[in-house]
Amino acid sequence: SLQIASLPLQSFLDDLHDKYKLEQEGAVADYIPELAKVNPDAFSICIATVNGEVYKVGDYNQLFTIQSISKVFVYGLALDDHGRDYILTRVGVEPTGDAFNAIVLDEQSKRPYNPMVNAGAIATTSLIKGFGASERLNRMLDMFRRYIGHDVFVDIAVFTSERTTGHRNRAMAHLMLNFGMIDEPIDEALDLYFQQCAVMVNCQDLAVMAATLANKGVNPISKEQAVDSRYIKDILSVMYTCGMYNFAGEWAYKVGIPAKSGISGGIIAVVPNQMGIAVFSPRLDSRGNSVRGVKVCEELSQHFGLHLFECS
Ligand code: GLN
Repeated sequence: SLQIASLPLQSFLDDLHDKYKLEQEGAVADYIPELAKVNPDAFSICIATVNGEVYKVGDYNQLFTIQSISKVFVYGLALDDHGRDYILTRVGVEPTGDAFNAIVLDEQSKRPYNPMVNAGAIATTSLIKGFGASERLNRMLDMFRRYIGHDVFVDIAVFTSERTTGHRNRAMAHLMLNFGMIDEPIDEALDLYFQQCAVMVNCQDLAVMAATLANKGVNPISKEQAVDSRYIKDILSVMYTCGMYNFAGEWAYKVGIPAKSGISGGIIAVVPNQMGIAVFSPRLDSRGNSVRGVKVCEELSQHFGLHLFECS
């Protein structure tokens, strides 16, 4: 296995950051109006190892909303709350090949295809246990705290912005309500979903969260168990097959490690038993993945031979 500590990893990250900081391709997401305010040039790369070492370069302290990367962790919380068998009756594990916001359910089962697309994520969020909206939100924030190692907050401006413009997600919730895949009150589930997407993180936080998944669910710095280790394989499997939306297949082929991207420009990637990788750069390609993020991960994977099926 890879001896990450013996590699000149920091200087490699510094060089990668230098190499891609002039890359201007892509566009910042603006369908959530508040997201368009981000500095499009922001850029950081962080790696956290399962030994608790953190390597970082660029704007690693800059806060941004986690967006779809939250889906990974909320799926873990739902598994913790209900167990694998029940969750599988409500949300599938099949990649769609469609965009993240596709309004599509499995024809036969009426389940959303998987928890990494919006429909599946909203269904997953609707299952989070708690008495009333505030207890559910607090349980979710506490779950994020375990992965990150410090308290987290919801960006109210982004939350409100998405809440007032998120008609497509609202439509999906109604469709799922129609098929009995989620229960009333759906406005509460949608609010919680918009809140989870608006949790603020920086690139360093994301690397530690990814490293926690790489480390059997134990935060490598605080040593806290963030999710039951038995669900790590569930989480990483859906990340591997569905985490990059309709780019998931090509990502699995080229980069070869479980990953998740978000519309605010973050990507996390998990190298099991070794490290978590995070990149933040808000300019996105046509599928909604960070342009620099994809390039950086491709190069990291190639250079260090991180592809899970690498044999040479
Ligand atoms: N909150 C966003 C949405 O539901 C998250 C999408 C994403 O990051 N891909 O549209």
